[in-house]
Amino acid sequence: MLCDNISVSRAGHLLFAGQDTLALARQYGTPLYLMDEDKIRENCRVYQKAFQKHFGAGSRPLYASKAASFKRIYQIMAEEGMGIDVVSSGEICTASQAGYDLAGAYFHSSNKTDADIVYAMDHGVGYFVADNMEEISAVEAEAARRGIRQKVLLRLTPGIDPHTYAANSTGKVDSKFGSAIETGQAEEITVFTLQQPHVELVGFHCHVGSQVFAEDVFERAARIMLEFCAAMQRKYGYLARQLDLGGGYGVRYVETDPYLDVDTKVAQVAAEVRRACEELEIPMPEIHMEPGRSIVANAGMTLYTCGSVKRIPGYKNYVSVDGGMTDNVRFALYGAQYTCLSAGRMNEERDMIASLVGRCCESGDIVQENVAFPSTVGRGDIIAVCTTGAYNYSMSSNYNRLPRPAVVMLRRGESYVAVRRESLEDLCRNDL
Ligand SMILES: *Cc1c(COP(=O)(O)O)cnc(C)c1O
Repeated sequence: MLCDNISVSRAGHLLFAGQDTLALARQYGTPLYLMDEDKIRENCRVYQKAFQKHFGAGSRPLYASKAASFKRIYQIMAEEGMGIDVVSSGEICTASQAGYDLAGAYFHSSNKTDADIVYAMDHGVGYFVADNMEEISAVEAEAARRGIRQKVLLRLTPGIDPHTYAANSTGKVDSKFGSAIETGQAEEITVFTLQQPHVELVGFHCHVGSQVFAEDVFERAARIMLEFCAAMQRKYGYLARQLDLGGGYGVRYVETDPYLDVDTKVAQVAAEVRRACEELEIPMPEIHMEPGRSIVANAGMTLYTCGSVKRIPGYKNYVSVDGGMTDNVRFALYGAQYTCLSAGRMNEERDMIASLVGRCCESGDIVQENVAFPSTVGRGDIIAVCTTGAYNYSMSSNYNRLPRPAVVMLRRGESYVAVRRESLEDLCRNDL
């Protein structure tokens, strides 16, 4: 199976975290997001252990909470000792309401509004990861007004494109995020930041991409960033205390995706960081990484109810479900792959190829193409889509005035609601 929390009962029912998905669909209704809390905690612990073992004190993983952001997630992250990334006042508000101590939070976003900056400082967000000069000026002004010194990291682009590895190693210089090392802009913003009396520069950040499996992307990024740190020390006597290498480790969406062993990967990055620091003769900074997807993706599964099966002889087949691009926009957005299963017919032969489509008024409302279903699949059947824990709920919408599904957590053989299903009244709540 795709992940060790997915299995099949003797009756041919799909089990998730050991629980019968048909029973969960009956109890909570569909469409439904399931989240395996034990798996989330296990994923956190794999990172925590690897960081303690390979990087040592001060270094830690930060959960990139845009992958899945709701109150319960932040409570789990607090309990697991994870730092967090936030990217908006909305995420700050959610984490704050969950009781998460925001002194350990890193505030990203390439365009923080003045209101965001005020909100974040009001809530004691520990670190700003600043993207550009305008932001540094705005943070300086607000910090001065408050008589504080705001801790800041600078987001830099090391010029690595993890997906066109051999062909092009500077493609990311043209990114909308951060300041490029190669063009001298990174140095410029560093000098500018060091001149601000109410901003304390604690280090540098980079994020090279997402769903990364390629061999040495993080090692190469670390090397380039550390060379930059060494140059800043040589030229300006500035020593970075923190180096944040971003997120992006890949997860298995389909059987052909490789396994990625986080402990081995972190060990390799740590070895390269040590080597580079020795060669460059700088002390090793605290190292942070920001896993999002690899913390929550394989903890998620979406359940739908099939409404119709349309067979167009000589063309194609459609299996239509009661959700779609509103709860999972990732295929429509960038052709993301998923493993889709007929949850009540796991022992039957899959002899029909169909497109799994949603209920929205949009031809692009496709969850996945070329899915193999048993040809017995029909109205009322439960359809499961695996590995939906990252960027599904967090990207969901109310298009066609569809209420967002509930998020149900699975924990040690039991289940509970973490986010209740939106009601029709919820949809009209802000309409005057
Ligand atoms: C999205 C993002 C992450 C998380 O990426 P994943 O692929 O989910 O691990 C981390 N850091 C930054 C700055 C991001 O934008």
